[in-house]
Amino acid sequence: MALGTATDPYELRFDTGRICLDLLATTHPVERLDSVAVLRAWITGSGIVPPGTPLAHADGSWLAGFRELRCQTARLVRARAPSVPGPAPGGPYDLALARVNDLARAAPPAPRAVRGDDGVLVRELTAPPECAALLGALARDAVELLTDPVARASLRQCAGDNCPIVYVDTSRGRRRRWCSSEICGNRERVARHRRRAALAR
Ligand SMILES: [Zn+2]
Repeated sequence: MALGTATDPYELRFDTGRICLDLLATTHPVERLDSVAVLRAWITGSGIVPPGTPLAHADGSWLAGFRELRCQTARLVRARAPSVPGPAPGGPYDLALARVNDLARAAPPAPRAVRGDDGVLVRELTAPPECAALLGALARDAVELLTDPVARASLRQCAGDNCPIVYVDTSRGRRRRWCSSEICGNRERVARHRRRAALAR
């Protein structure tokens, strides 16, 4: 069933190393945030809420909010280092910065630890999360990323053909080239193998 596939969280990717970058990755290879059902799966998959958090109250306005934050965050992440002669003052970069800062003012959902069935502590929210609180968590992650010199210096764009995914390279020796070695890395290995096979003939 198409709906079942579209909401399968395993189809969504959370491998960039930062939740704000995972949000950017939802435009690739096609728009993923195209239904509230997928957005709910993304929110759960991203880990910004504990598993099982009720999200039935999410509606179309959430989709608009998440997409808008994604657009503003992309502007900031993809901009060249905003030093001299940085983006024009008052331009799209500054507007995006103001918007992300504004969204970051909302407190993220408050977690608490409660006893689970087997007595082990589990994390849950004090109340079903509001959209603004979730956007706040993502916007705060963007603020922290953009103001962290080490993390910023580790930002990479995937070396795959036409792959826009930006990730934080935390690998040893900083040699990660792909958003995912299973996806873009594998595609490159297959292409290389084909080229070699063609040369051998
Ligand atoms: Zn890639």
